[in-house]
Amino acid sequence: MEVIRPADIQEAAAALAENPGAVPLAGGTDLMVEVNFGHIRPSAVITLRRVEEIQELSRRRIGAGVTFRDLETGDHRALAQLARTIGSPQIRAAGTIGGNIGTASPAGDSLPFLAGLDARIELRSAARGARLVPWDEFFIGVKQTSKRPDELITAVLLPEDLPDRQEFAKIGQRSAMVISIVAACVFRWRGGRTRVALGSVGPTPIRCRRAEDMISNERNPGESALDEFARIVSEEVRPITDHRGTEDYRRHSSGVLARRLLERCLAS
Ligand SMILES: Cc1cc2nc3c(=O)[nH]c(=O)nc-3n(C[C@H](O)[C@H](O)[C@H](O)COP(=O)(O)OP(=O)(O)OC[C@H]3O[C@@H](n4cnc5c(N)ncnc54)[C@H](O)[C@@H]3O)c2cc1C
Repeated sequence: MEVIRPADIQEAAAALAENPGAVPLAGGTDLMVEVNFGHIRPSAVITLRRVEEIQELSRRRIGAGVTFRDLETGDHRALAQLARTIGSPQIRAAGTIGGNIGTASPAGDSLPFLAGLDARIELRSAARGARLVPWDEFFIGVKQTSKRPDELITAVLLPEDLPDRQEFAKIGQRSAMVISIVAACVFRWRGGRTRVALGSVGPTPIRCRRAEDMISNERNPGESALDEFARIVSEEVRPITDHRGTEDYRRHSSGVLARRLLERCLAS
């Protein structure tokens, strides 16, 4: 397997265009697992470690090459919370947000964060330059995205109007080194606007828009409003039964988790 080491984003995009059998390699924590199991056999890998343009991190722009270790201490509470749950220190030191998005697993822990904030994914190709894709047009199925084969993920862009409160949590079979059975992010703005997004309970991240509308109208939600919020979240998710959990368990846990995170937003 050939290893191509571009020095900047132009070289990386050109390498991808010129080598149709090549795949981008960031931390390798997903890609090399697939290679080692013989699931894929790329003719070449294009390493992104030296591409500085995608390592940049600011409040509203997160470079695709930023590692979860760097996100553990960032500005966004929910992003830091989810970064701290990913794999082990070794996985977080190598694994990037761009790789999490590139894999597009339903269990990718950064995906509910992107969905809840209506993030846009920035892509770049040698032929067409840069374009921005809203999260719900980017993630189109289980491990499927609308990214074209000659495109690199360069960054995640967050909106100007960031929430006043944000919380993330996930449920797994144990408390470390596990893939999520359910993951959730809740965002709340002063004034009541609320967003709730979940992962591992559908082929792509799920936004619970009926639950959002219902709870956004409640300035100080009481027990019955919180119960109703949890009930609607459980209705809106689209989980399946697999070796990690049943559909019923995931549906129930989604409501419980979303309610708990909303309560944390309201208390802080
Ligand atoms: C032990 C272990 C534990 C894990 N735990 C978790 C966990 O708790 N939560 C979780 O969400 N994930 C987990 N993962 C999965 C993995 O670590 C993450 O998905 C990580 O974010 C992948 O990033 P990477 O940089 O290593 O990507 P890579 O493996 O380098 O790439 C992944 C895919 O994205 C593509 N890609 C990467 N960067 C780009 C780019 N800039 N442009 C275009 N395509 C790109 C690659 O071609 C490949 O298809 C775990 C993995 C392991 C091995």
